[in-house]
Amino acid sequence: MDQRYDILISGGGVAGLTAACVMGAAGFSVLCVDPAPPVTDGGAEGADLRTTAFLQPARSLLEEAGLWARLDPHAAALQIMRIVDAGGAEPTARLVRDFEASDIGDLPFGWNLPNWLLRREMLARIEDLDSVTFRPGTGTESLLTRETEAFVRLTDGSRIRTKLVLAADGRNSPMRQAAGIGAKTIRYGQKALAFAVSHPIPHENVSTEVHRSGGPFTLVPLPDRDGGPCSAIVWMEDGAEVDRLAQLPVEAFEASMMERSTGILGPLTLLTRRSVWPIISQVADRMSGQRVALMAEAAHVVPPIGAQGLNMSLGDLRCLRDLAVARPAGLGDRQMMEDYHNARHGEVTLRAAGIDMLNRASQIHAQPLRDLRAATLGALYGAAPVRRMLMQMGLGAKG
Ligand SMILES: Cc1cc2nc3c(=O)[nH]c(=O)nc-3n(C[C@H](O)[C@H](O)[C@H](O)COP(=O)(O)OP(=O)(O)OC[C@H]3O[C@@H](n4cnc5c(N)ncnc54)[C@H](O)[C@@H]3O)c2cc1C
Repeated sequence: MDQRYDILISGGGVAGLTAACVMGAAGFSVLCVDPAPPVTDGGAEGADLRTTAFLQPARSLLEEAGLWARLDPHAAALQIMRIVDAGGAEPTARLVRDFEASDIGDLPFGWNLPNWLLRREMLARIEDLDSVTFRPGTGTESLLTRETEAFVRLTDGSRIRTKLVLAADGRNSPMRQAAGIGAKTIRYGQKALAFAVSHPIPHENVSTEVHRSGGPFTLVPLPDRDGGPCSAIVWMEDGAEVDRLAQLPVEAFEASMMERSTGILGPLTLLTRRSVWPIISQVADRMSGQRVALMAEAAHVVPPIGAQGLNMSLGDLRCLRDLAVARPAGLGDRQMMEDYHNARHGEVTLRAAGIDMLNRASQIHAQPLRDLRAATLGALYGAAPVRRMLMQMGLGAKG
């Protein structure tokens, strides 16, 4: 027999689980499915060792979903964004510029949390929400849509009738493909290493991006561990170089990190394994189809620069939640799907184009272009109104 839910969420990654909490807290009945059971222990095989820096606008959405109170005790605040250009002949810092949150308001830019911990706390919140069911170990298999509803067959053979399919099933989104929505992809030949380190110099809630070539080397504050300062690192380089770095013995890897970080936090000690992520940019041709809305990486993938990826996804989610709550009887109908596409596609395309440009600037190898990059950063930073506008745009406060 068919099972009925207001919303079926395909995908229980960080985006899908957040969507389940947000939509469940808004009063809709939600089923969330994912073939991969979530790993909720940072030391376990398969744990997602990335961290997510939630930017200011994310907090109210997480509060409304009943998530923020659970996350707050584990979050490291980001007060300053430091950009270091180390693009000269020697791998040393030649230009350092600090963007300070206090220039544009009272709050920090954002708060950083490990992804495995996000999954743990989101599952705990889902346990408390009667409106939400999460079925790990089960995926979506096929989709049939009609003007009035959608029918989804799951891998366990069950059939779901729903008003809205929310595709949060990642960059190769099976539901996006089933809905016949294409996507444009840019490949950079680049990969990222994600891991955590400890260091003798406190981070003082400063997030630091070091640019030389191949992509940024980003240190993002984590809460202290065993009384010592810790940071999460995302290190982007050409793919072959990342593969080489990932295989280096720990001592040699730590020496390479020290050089690439320009020693800004002193010698870095590796605390976790090194996880490798291919870097692409991708935007779906549309944000929605009949009874299907795309969100997060199903709709847009961007290189991890400026903490934009999941924060754009929360922008998608806020828009969907607001449209659904404003007109619950129209959940998933043609008008809602059209309104969602119109509200998000331009913003997402523009933001992805901006991040693509920043990534290409950080990748460059030629010395004269690296010099131009440093000069541009210096000039943009020097003009206070431009600096403040860049900070607000980065937060998503201005499109
Ligand atoms: C190195 C790195 C660092 C990053 N740092 C940040 C940051 O600081 N801030 C930020 O905002 N963003 C950041 N991002 C981006 C952020 O991590 C991603 O946007 C986010 O994790 C993507 O989440 P997602 O849920 O869309 O996709 P995924 O995590 O890929 O989840 C998709 C889920 O769908 C499931 N699935 C697949 N097929 C099916 C099916 N048939 N049925 C049901 N489920 C299915 C998969 O099993 C998976 O669990 C970073 C990304 C990288 C690579």
